[in-house]
Amino acid sequence: MYLFKRSSDLKKHLDQVRKSNKSIGFVPTMGALHDGHLSLVQAGKKENDIVVCSIFVNPTQFNDPKDFEKYPITIEQDIKKLNDASTDILFLPSVEEMYPEGLAGNTHYEFGDLETILEGKFRPGHFQGVGRIVHKLLDIVQPHKLFMGQKDLQQCLIVRRLLELINSKVELVVCPTEREPSGLAMSSRNERLTPAARKKAAVIYQALEKLKHEFGNGLYFLESAREAFEELQREGFEPEYVDILVLENGHLHHISEPPGDHTVVAAVAAWIEGVRLIDNMVLQGRI
Ligand code: AMP
Repeated sequence: MYLFKRSSDLKKHLDQVRKSNKSIGFVPTMGALHDGHLSLVQAGKKENDIVVCSIFVNPTQFNDPKDFEKYPITIEQDIKKLNDASTDILFLPSVEEMYPEGLAGNTHYEFGDLETILEGKFRPGHFQGVGRIVHKLLDIVQPHKLFMGQKDLQQCLIVRRLLELINSKVELVVCPTEREPSGLAMSSRNERLTPAARKKAAVIYQALEKLKHEFGNGLYFLESAREAFEELQREGFEPEYVDILVLENGHLHHISEPPGDHTVVAAVAAWIEGVRLIDNMVLQGRI
């Protein structure tokens, strides 16, 4: 595996790769890698000649400085895992490398209502930071395909919109959420939980499964979501939202009437032990 820290070196290398007509898959991450990340690398390998993975804890997408400070960094282990997964290239830039203009910046992406609900509502500015870093990384790597996880569903929709806004031909591949045996969605933040809370966190998955079941039985309105919210509270979580949403033309809106054939998803964000966990499940259709 090649490791690049400078974008100019990586670009030069990838120019050669493209010249030899090889396709490039790209997996952007913030490190503290787990099997969810590695499933994206595997998908990338399957669909491309080479896979580039980046590890960069992007400061501009953290609306909470404490969350940024506490973000786990396990770079030695990450390198080993990527190497074992036959990743071709790791891009490991510094903050200065990615933001020579400084963090303040004056970019703005028109994500519309996609960035004001769910994560956008509770993490103001988060998706502008995501847009900014993904745009920069795409300019450097210029992949054929971009691999992202459904675990961060709204992020996938934001990136899909970003690709439209910048007229990019890159294909976004949304990969399924990898879960721990308990059902808990794998996440770098799980590392910060005590074993007891990690065990309990499976309740989030169970709540989503219940919503899916109830949806299947025709119960898809607000009551099911409110009950799930209260169930999480009873289990000692501080939920921020439990929502059922309809995906229509790249936009998400709260369900208010029978959704017809549109894709329907349930999404949860909840705190436990000072750690914020998110998860979602498709109830109907596909992302
Ligand atoms: P992160 O390092 O958290 O920014 O995640 C990097 C990429 O891995 C994003 O596209 C995530 O959606 C994806 N990802 C994170 N957790 C999982 C998971 N449990 N299963 C599949 N993909 C995931």
